[in-house]
Amino acid sequence: MYLKELKLDKRTVLLRVDFNVPLNENYEITDDTRMRRAIPTIKHLQDKSCKIIIMSHLGRPQKKLNDDGTLNVEKFTLKHLVDHLRSLTGMNTAFCDSHDVDKMTSASKNLNFGEILLLENTRFHKGETKGDESFAKDLSSLADVFVNDAFGTAHRAHSSTTVVARYFDKTQKSFGLLMEAEIENANRVLNGAESPVTAIIGGAKVSDKIQLIEKLLDISDNIIIGGGMAYTFKKALGGQVGNSLCEDDYLDLAKRLIEKAAIANTKIWLPEDSVAADAFSNEANIKIKPSDDIDSGWMGLDIGPKAIEAYKKVISSSKTILWNGPMGVFEMSNYSNGTFTVAREVADATQLGAFSLIGGGDSVAAINKANLSDKVSYVSTGGGAMLEYLEGKILPGIQAILS
Ligand code: AMP
Repeated sequence: MYLKELKLDKRTVLLRVDFNVPLNENYEITDDTRMRRAIPTIKHLQDKSCKIIIMSHLGRPQKKLNDDGTLNVEKFTLKHLVDHLRSLTGMNTAFCDSHDVDKMTSASKNLNFGEILLLENTRFHKGETKGDESFAKDLSSLADVFVNDAFGTAHRAHSSTTVVARYFDKTQKSFGLLMEAEIENANRVLNGAESPVTAIIGGAKVSDKIQLIEKLLDISDNIIIGGGMAYTFKKALGGQVGNSLCEDDYLDLAKRLIEKAAIANTKIWLPEDSVAADAFSNEANIKIKPSDDIDSGWMGLDIGPKAIEAYKKVISSSKTILWNGPMGVFEMSNYSNGTFTVAREVADATQLGAFSLIGGGDSVAAINKANLSDKVSYVSTGGGAMLEYLEGKILPGIQAILS
């Protein structure tokens, strides 16, 4: 069900969001994008005079316990977010520091219509990531309806994302507006996208993106490959890649993907040349080399000028563009040109009418760093979740709303 179909007036809503924001050493929020992206849903609930109980995780507190085995509450508490949530929404916002059902119930009973209660980090509860039923049931008992707006964790069958939804009837739960937008934009690429469709796939390893590439063979006219994974393809085709990132266990698979692409009539673009460096460092010596002729001791850390020109042409003539993964080690300035040029080209193509989806992970960081996020069609908030959705997997958090 969609949010606008849900009967909401003056009801108590349990809202799962992804407020997993980065904090500095003083526990100040350094990037509030994830919070801001949930605001339209919160405002919609406010307009309907709901009582809004918000839950989210923050970091991995169970993996980063104190030396004595206790939770590092100070570091991972959602209390750090309360003031900012209040200022973003302009709503009275209370905080409940316990997952004890009686305490959560009494805190929610104190809420007035149009007010927020933020619950403590869901991952403080040991059962959360295991999909604990009793925790999910306790959470569900607080509200009349459940809204899931946490696309970033939709690929996890956790208590507060998936299991909790089972305690609500199909007519009493829905996606939030962010989740709806994420699904709609991904579907726009997956189902009947306007041709030519170009997928730009980069990042470190081919092994992380095999299923994505396989899926994209069905729907793309072009697959542009960049980043570390390009060298596994180059070596599979008989090239010398020196010390470039290369997964020798995946050479056969890379070859098979190239063969499959030929059958599917999808053109795979590999970088003709690379920026090669003699160390994994911004201070290393650099030279431009063919990507299949990199000297031993040297490594390809960015796509080269010929590759950039070729990729620009493909991107500018595309009508649908999906981008997942950087073209090089863009965190270091000497190897960022490929990624930022691709970012600009995707933005330019969008201004000329193409639809572009920046599909999560480091390409989102790159498009933000290039200040171009408002010049593309959609920037996903879900790294792993978007990857899995594009691979064609059924995400448990989505399924739980539909069933
Ligand atoms: P991923 O998480 O798989 O999208 O990979 C992103 C990471 O891949 C970034 O941190 C990049 O620095 C890294 N990366 C991109 N290109 C290369 C390359 N040619 N060699 C080594 N690492 C790379």
